[in-house]
Formats: sequence, C-alpha cells, structure tokens
Amino acid sequence: LLDAVSDQAAVALERVVLSARIEDQRVEHQSDALRSALLSSVSHDLRTPLSSILGAATSLQTQHDRLSDDGRAELVDMIVEEAERLNRFVQNLLDMTRLGHGRLELRRHWCDLRELLGRAQRRLQRSLLGRTVSIDVSADMPMAFVDPMLIEQVLVNLLDNACKYSPSGSAVDIALAVHDDVLQLQIRDRGSGIPATDRERIFDMFFRVRSQDHAAPGTGLGLAICRGILRAHGGDIEAQAPLQGSGSVFLMSLPKAHRAAPTICDPRD
Ligand code: ADP
Repeated sequence: LLDAVSDQAAVALERVVLSARIEDQRVEHQSDALRSALLSSVSHDLRTPLSSILGAATSLQTQHDRLSDDGRAELVDMIVEEAERLNRFVQNLLDMTRLGHGRLELRRHWCDLRELLGRAQRRLQRSLLGRTVSIDVSADMPMAFVDPMLIEQVLVNLLDNACKYSPSGSAVDIALAVHDDVLQLQIRDRGSGIPATDRERIFDMFFRVRSQDHAAPGTGLGLAICRGILRAHGGDIEAQAPLQGSGSVFLMSLPKAHRAAPTICDPRD
C-alpha cells in the first residue's frame, strides 16, 4: 500500500511539475501578480494533501501493530481522500493549461447526466458525508452528447464547492431538467452564499470571494475551468441569487443534441 501511495504521489508530482513548467511558460508575458498567485496556489494545494498523505502513511508504517482495525481503516480512507484531492487539483491544472491554449479536445459520447453525477458523488464520498444530497430529474430528461470526463470534472468542482462553502449537516439540492433545446443542471447549497457584486467575478481565474473566511482550501481555478469546459461544449454556467433563503445557486446549461440518442449508453464508451 505504501509503495502504491508513494508511486501515485510521485506520478502526481511529476505531472504537476510538468504542468507548472508549461504554465510558467504561458504566463511568461503576463503580470508578476498572476505568476505569483499561480505558484503560491500550486504549492499550497500540493503541499496540504501531500502532508496529510505522508502523515497517514507514516503512522501506518510506524504504528501499524498498535493501531486498531478501525484506526488503520481511517488512515487508509484519509490517504484515498487526499490522493483524490491531489488528483482533482492536477486535473484542474491540466484542463486550465489546455483551455489556455485553446486545445481542449472534446471526446463526446452519449451520456446520462445522472450517471455522471453519481460518479462525481462517489469521488467526493468523504466530503459529502454529513450533507443531504437530493437529486431531482425531470421525467423527459434526454441523454447528453458530451465529453464524460470533462463534464464529470465540472460536476466534481461544483459539488466540491457546495460542500466546502456550506456547513456540515446542510442540504444540497440538484435538479436536472430540459427546457426547449437546453439541458439544465441546477445545484443549490445552504452555505455562505455569494455577494451579488461577485457573482460574475467568481468565474475569473484566481478570484476568491474576499468576505468569506478562507479556511476552505482553494485556488480560485475551479469555476473558471467549469465555465471553459461548458462553453467549449456550447453551454455555460452562471451563479444566481437564491429565490428564497440563503446559500448559492449555480445553473449550468448544455445544448440538447439534435441527433437521436441510442437506447443504451455507457459513459465509459
Ligand atoms: P476555489 O473554491 O478553489 O477557491 P472556485 O473557482 O471553485 O475556486 O471558486 C471561486 C470562489 O467562488 C471561491 O473561492 C468562493 O469564494 C466562491 N464560491 C464558489 N462556490 C461557492 C459556493 N457554493 N458557495 C459560496 N461561495 C462559493
């Protein structure tokens, strides 16, 4: 297990160093502020999960026999969760690089958005604990013709934010519906919400809402990537004012495909 963890961490590090180098070249002609924001967010977002992985792996190594079965299982869960966080971060960096170069290639397949939501939920397993996630799907919801990996990344980023910026125990409501030629996914949480003046700026790279306390880890890249991916599909995303109560509401849209979908679809096709 430890060997596998260090191999994974080494591969993740290698990918990040490579993409940081590519990114570094990309920002060469941009402002120093952008460069230092990128470098500090890269090192912070790398260091935090890596130190948790190292801490948990070292405890397993040095105290293996003294730990209970539950104690060991908890450490293994922590390693998996933090490795998944690293993985999301690396994926976001790679997507950002590809978006920045206009080289985001879409590998479209027929997909059931519910299935992609299920996958995103499984990837966020532990962060979602303590939240009640409800998913409401309209009966006439058609298949989407999208790049499953990229749309899953969008859903992971949105669900991850809904958890990060809302208290444990609160509800997250997701609704999937079709309106004319548009597939819509709305995700609502009961957290800190987003000030009206920032509702557009949160889609800018590195922008984080100033009035929030920044205990939640983050780089300000996730939503910029979501918008880039959705626009590449001919869709979009916006933050809306909640109709009632507090919290945030995100509405993402994707065009409905004109071709008829096959009856059976596997997003891993
Ligand atoms: P990150 O979460 O890594 O900082 P994002 O690009 O995903 O970056 O989000 C940008 C900012 O928008 C966040 O820093 C946060 O201030 C705000 N934000 C995003 N999602 C939510 C949400 N569900 N509730 C409240 N604020 C949010």
